[in-house]
Amino acid sequence: MAKHRYLIALGSNQRHASHGSPRAVVAAAIKALDRGTFTLMTASRVIDSAPLGPSLRRYANAAALVRTRHEPPAVLRKLHKIERRFGRRRRGQQWGARVLDLDIVMWSGGLHEGTSRGQSLTIPHPEFRDRPFVTGPARQIAGLWRDPLTNLTIRQLHARLTKPRAASR
Ligand code: ADP
Ligand code: MG
Repeated sequence: MAKHRYLIALGSNQRHASHGSPRAVVAAAIKALDRGTFTLMTASRVIDSAPLGPSLRRYANAAALVRTRHEPPAVLRKLHKIERRFGRRRRGQQWGARVLDLDIVMWSGGLHEGTSRGQSLTIPHPEFRDRPFVTGPARQIAGLWRDPLTNLTIRQLHARLTKPRAASR
């Protein structure tokens, strides 16, 4: 039974030998989220974002809503498997070039804190509230999902990032 829903953030800032541009990588990765034990419910448009950190490569970003019966640690393992299939190598660098990054932004089960094969897993994703390239696409498909930590909807979190004056009132 596919009882859980997950909001996944997708990002790419490196070309792939056969898929091509980061935008094409993200589009192909969305399709990969509709296979096996994942059912794709809906996906955002793919956006172009400015480079992050010391890397000068532009990103393509999107968000997807998937259904699956799997619990968070198993979902993270499956996402890492998809990243590897797209040629991503984990060398410990945080901001470097990556063909594909798949993060769990939120899930239908609220807060989750744990580890998966020695790697930490925190849901909601600890940094998503500060990343307009995550909240922007996420807002298109899950604008009314509520962040259990701040109790704000994704729509509100996105507005807070993009309209700082309105948020400080
Ligand atoms: P980035 O922070 O740029 O996504 P990585 O993709 O290399 O960098 O992720 C680093 C680690 O973050 C992963 O190995 C994973 O264990 C951990 N992590 C913690 N919470 C999450 C989450 N909600 N979604 C994805 N990865 C997470
Ligand atoms: Mg990641």
